Amino acid sequence: MICARRVLLLAGRVRGAQPVTRSGDTPRRAKNEATIVLAQRKLLQRLVPGLMHAFIFWGFLVLFPTIVIAMIGAVDRHTTFPWLGHQGWYLLLVDVFVALVLIGVIVDLWIRHVIRPRRFEGSHLGEADLILALIVTIVITLALWHATQIALGYNEWPASWSPLSKALSHLFGRDEATRVLERVFVWAHVLTILAFLAYLPHSKHLHIAVAAINVWFGRTRAAGRLEPLRFDDPDVPEEEIRFGAGTANDLTWKQVLDTFSCTECGRCQDACPAWSTGKVLSPKLVIMGLRDYVLAEEAQSLVPGAVPEESVWDCVTCGACIQACPVSIEHVDHIVDLRRHLVMVESSFPAEAEPMLRDVERASNPWGKAQSERAEWAAALGVRVLEPGEPAPEYLYWVGCASSFDERARRTAESTAKLLQAAGVDFAILGPRESCTGDPARRIGNEYVFQAFAEQNVQTLNDAGVRKIVANCPHCFNTLANEYPDFGGSYEVIHHSELLASLVAEGRLRPQRSEGLSITYHDSCYLARHNDVLAPPRDLVAAVGAPVEMKRSGKETFCCGAGGAHMWMEERGGAINEARVGEAAATGADTLAVACPFCTVMLDDGVQSAGDALRVVDVATLLSEAIEDDVRDPRD
Ligand code: SF4
Ligand code: SF4
Repeated sequence: MICARRVLLLAGRVRGAQPVTRSGDTPRRAKNEATIVLAQRKLLQRLVPGLMHAFIFWGFLVLFPTIVIAMIGAVDRHTTFPWLGHQGWYLLLVDVFVALVLIGVIVDLWIRHVIRPRRFEGSHLGEADLILALIVTIVITLALWHATQIALGYNEWPASWSPLSKALSHLFGRDEATRVLERVFVWAHVLTILAFLAYLPHSKHLHIAVAAINVWFGRTRAAGRLEPLRFDDPDVPEEEIRFGAGTANDLTWKQVLDTFSCTECGRCQDACPAWSTGKVLSPKLVIMGLRDYVLAEEAQSLVPGAVPEESVWDCVTCGACIQACPVSIEHVDHIVDLRRHLVMVESSFPAEAEPMLRDVERASNPWGKAQSERAEWAAALGVRVLEPGEPAPEYLYWVGCASSFDERARRTAESTAKLLQAAGVDFAILGPRESCTGDPARRIGNEYVFQAFAEQNVQTLNDAGVRKIVANCPHCFNTLANEYPDFGGSYEVIHHSELLASLVAEGRLRPQRSEGLSITYHDSCYLARHNDVLAPPRDLVAAVGAPVEMKRSGKETFCCGAGGAHMWMEERGGAINEARVGEAAATGADTLAVACPFCTVMLDDGVQSAGDALRVVDVATLLSEAIEDDVRDPRD
């Protein structure tokens, strides 16, 4: 009864939540279920705690039929489940997993109470101890029940298949006391299982029941894509249009399911650059706070009740939390929805971001520069500017605001253009007709402004007949490739590192490699983690110098601190860019290669504040320097 009432309440919360589409892609969902849930892929990335959890989880699956077997045995000691209850191999599996579950629980307790990693800060540890105590009672009473059955000769399977229970059976004689104990153990086993099932939906171990469902409905499209808000959907009545999340009633059913799935393991918190540099934001505490408000009787403001306002603004949308989460919780969607409500409904956002939003709307770029200056860098290089009505080039080079207007990032645009010219690639830029993609406005929560820019840019690109786009900014790349299809813009989008690496591979660019040039490459979150572009920038680094990897690299990269519109926000706590520069310096490299204009600026700032000697440079510039003979500057 207690269990059923709670399950109905939880199901009601999911059913009553806002709609979101999570259908289709069945093969991908099945694969996620097999790898993330059954094979425990994400958890096993950390061997000891991963194995501990896997033992308990696999034990749960193997021992599940014993619930029915024990219930039958509790009613009639001489009856068992047809077929399975007589199978020696199954009873062997039961013994093996009883032992493994016990090992798993002991290691778990040791990690929580002796090692005490920081990732458990803020988790409900007392609740976890109670659950572990119930699990231990369940497996020990099962083993003792089997042991007394063997001692009394009641076992319906060959005792030799149960080495653990057989060894324990020597503790008991074939007498009345053992007959009583056999009843005590089986009933203790059954009653503990019932207590566990009644407690489960009230505890954080609810994830046992819902995590597999949450993984199934996890996102299968690109990680870097945000769900668009539908302001002008004719099927949605005006009063039902979502403006992000102000109360728990605004959360989608997937977001509600996310909150029920959290195991409080803290892996997201451990990976979070905001948390690890001393900021208020902990993605784990965000999800736990939202869960409390989902379960509350009345709908109250999520910020600052469930989530402190600093947490909402601390996020750099790097996605490290999502990648680390073993149950496919999508923290960035939650945080951006909280931002959307604050920005669009309450007009509340960090004051320092206001000029950026104003400049994007007024000048079509966050630098507030005149659009007529956008292509100034290109004029001297003779780069073609695509005029209306002209035939589209093979590649439209989307330069992006940073590489157009920022002094340091502009070097990337110049190098890329020179390299494409040297390789004979047919390309052009949009010049003053290129606008901000809207990414910084979207990530800060202003979906209105983003959608206005998305529609305008898609119109321009479609009118120009553009099919292929090369972008040097991973944020532009992500928006063009993953988010513009929601607004009618579908293009083949390629990052400049991918195009340049293919030109090198084809022999159309021939760099001179310098063994003495030690280079460590920093993966941009929006390139590596959100879009899986890992090898091409590394190929370029290897083509010009001697690569050396940082400890955190590839999809495990650590943010530069600029994502989520943080390029234009004050940073509280420690500086993320300085932390990353420290990791780069630790490699002993003399060059810190990047493939993102934001990373260029942030890490160069970090090097300057740390007083380090590292040179921060885009892979395109490194490549152009390595083929000076081939890449002639038309100004020379
Ligand atoms: S996206 Fe990055 S900064 Fe934001 S909560 Fe996740 S790990 Fe932290
Ligand atoms: S959100 Fe995911 S990674 Fe973070 S504590 Fe919950 S289950 Fe663990």
